[in-house]
Amino acid sequence: MKLKFRWVSAGLLAVAMQSSGAATVVNDKTLTEVGDGSNWLAYGRNYSEQRYSPLEQINDQSIARLGLDWVLELPEDRMLLATPLVVDGVMYFTGSFSKTRAVNAKTGELLWEYDPESVKHAGDRLRIMWDQNKGPAFWNGKVIISTIDGRLIGLDAKTGERIWETMTIDPRRAYYITGAPKVFKGKVIIGNGGTEQEAARGYVTAYNADTGEQEWRFWVVPGNPADGFENAAMEMAAKTWTGEWWKHGGGGNTWNGITYDPEFNQVLVGTGNGSPWNRKIRSPGGGDNLFLCSIVALDADTGAYKWHYQTVPGETWDYNSNMDIVLADLKFGEQQVKALMHAPKNGFFYVLNRENGELLSAEKIGKVTWASHVDLKTGRPVEIAGSRYEDGEETVWPSPYGTHSWHAMSYNPKTGLVYIPTIEMPAVFKDSGIDLKAWESPHFRASVGVEFGTEDTAPDYGVAFLMAWDPLKHEKVWEHELPPLWNPGTMTTAGNLVFQGRADGEFAAYHTETGKKLWSTQLGLGISAPPVTYSIDGKQYVSLLVGWGGAGLISGSLAAQHGWKYKVHPRRLYTFALDSAKPIPSSPPPAYAQPVDLPDFKIDDEQASYGQALFAESCFLCHGGGVVSGGGAPDLRESPIALSRDAFREVVVNGAKFANGMPRFKDFGDREIDGLLHYIRKMARKGAANPLKKVSQAQP
Ligand code: CA
Repeated sequence: MKLKFRWVSAGLLAVAMQSSGAATVVNDKTLTEVGDGSNWLAYGRNYSEQRYSPLEQINDQSIARLGLDWVLELPEDRMLLATPLVVDGVMYFTGSFSKTRAVNAKTGELLWEYDPESVKHAGDRLRIMWDQNKGPAFWNGKVIISTIDGRLIGLDAKTGERIWETMTIDPRRAYYITGAPKVFKGKVIIGNGGTEQEAARGYVTAYNADTGEQEWRFWVVPGNPADGFENAAMEMAAKTWTGEWWKHGGGGNTWNGITYDPEFNQVLVGTGNGSPWNRKIRSPGGGDNLFLCSIVALDADTGAYKWHYQTVPGETWDYNSNMDIVLADLKFGEQQVKALMHAPKNGFFYVLNRENGELLSAEKIGKVTWASHVDLKTGRPVEIAGSRYEDGEETVWPSPYGTHSWHAMSYNPKTGLVYIPTIEMPAVFKDSGIDLKAWESPHFRASVGVEFGTEDTAPDYGVAFLMAWDPLKHEKVWEHELPPLWNPGTMTTAGNLVFQGRADGEFAAYHTETGKKLWSTQLGLGISAPPVTYSIDGKQYVSLLVGWGGAGLISGSLAAQHGWKYKVHPRRLYTFALDSAKPIPSSPPPAYAQPVDLPDFKIDDEQASYGQALFAESCFLCHGGGVVSGGGAPDLRESPIALSRDAFREVVVNGAKFANGMPRFKDFGDREIDGLLHYIRKMARKGAANPLKKVSQAQP
């Protein structure tokens, strides 16, 4: 290791010598500024989360000259969702299981890598986890990463050596982290996910960015009143809950959108859905259930509550408000407003005055049937009768994937427009088959208190768009249909461009005002990460991680139609610049599972139906709805392992594929193994008879 670090230092010295000017100190000042665009210092480029760059060398006129400059192969990786950071010519990013790399941003040369060994740390907790991570933070010479198993780790940016490590969750509980940590004022803040797998009570914690010591924690929902409340905000929130909510945790987990707002010295936290989803179980007498599905403003120094705005009072559809919170100065009528913009899952686009949380506007950006509108006087949505599935089964728009999920929107101050990836898709909600009083919260298995289908989703069940939205006029300025369903975040520049990857592997640039597609290239694998831009020695670059991933892969055929089969297509980091013309390295064509029907296998329907329920609790998050893999794990309908009872048991119970991230289920006996095998064979027979067809209507 010693030798490696010496070599690393030499590499970094070379980078420093290539770049002109003094080293950037990443602190509150540099993270507040727009800067000259040479760096990409934070998840949303700076504290504003706008993902807007002032660089304009690559622009609507010159973009025809954009080509591949360098590429880094990432053969060990799978899901790549991260926003890379660029500081003084060095790029830092997290890959699968938060493996972290520093590369020379001019050449792609690897400078160091750090493996937090998340699989080993997670152990049997892996049964609720993915391998994805949304990226690092940078503060004062340190790269700070989060891990799926719940840790925050501070690394020396020069060497990749670990400086500190902090466990942020109770490992006995089913929490995990996929979000990027955020830094401010010498602190680093992180939340977690887990409302689907635990009696979860959400929280965010701020730690000292230099030492990892805890500074403050804010709980999103109240605990058991008998234990006393942590603060007055929890006492106030408890008045909006009924029944014995604390037995189910309540939820509100903060797994993504957290924005530091230097102008008001506050942290704006986007909070999650209920635990469980179904309010009839969680809070049987009704109530708003604060602070679920809200933006909560906290004092940056103490974590004390300042104000909140709740987007979905009494949520019951998984319509969390975990999406990014973007800061901008907007002229609202005659009023100049320090605003925040937020497009949560629920289908509305919100503009708030962030000085006090006052609602300025809330308009639909897609098909929404749970509410007719938001009353600007009360600030509350006006719900449509039946949408709470109170009268039985109900089809509701949007689905739990949301009209907009965590895929970042960007805001361009030149056009005043927001560029949002959206989804239009319903879901069927019902709970008539659930004993609401007897229902128990899960523990390391998925269960949400709604009979929510975990069957395969048809390839044409949902559609997706890239939308340019005017937050002041509340109107769509232009839009492109995108391939279903799961398209990544956007980035916009002073060069009149919006960049975005697509689920079908295309990477494209559009004119910010007209939406005209000006440039595109095919990268041979579904894209799930947002691009970034930076410059070194007067040359502008655009970079993008390509590695299909995220919860959209759960949907089965809707994701599988693109043919991004597990471990078939190379994972890469691509970087583009003007007048560069390296050929895009080749990738295999789209590949589809070939389900194996065993004609002699007699499927027992009772066993298969037991297996289906088990699959929904413990397998489908990775292997896909209806056993149709969207690419996040092997398709079990064609797996040779699932053809042998002994081999299957070795993997599922004894952990033969543990190193790949396949968890052990030591508690599974013959009934579980046989149930799963009967269900897999049943789905394989169905799949063999009806091969998957691509239905994407979006034109490349
Ligand atoms: Ca959720």
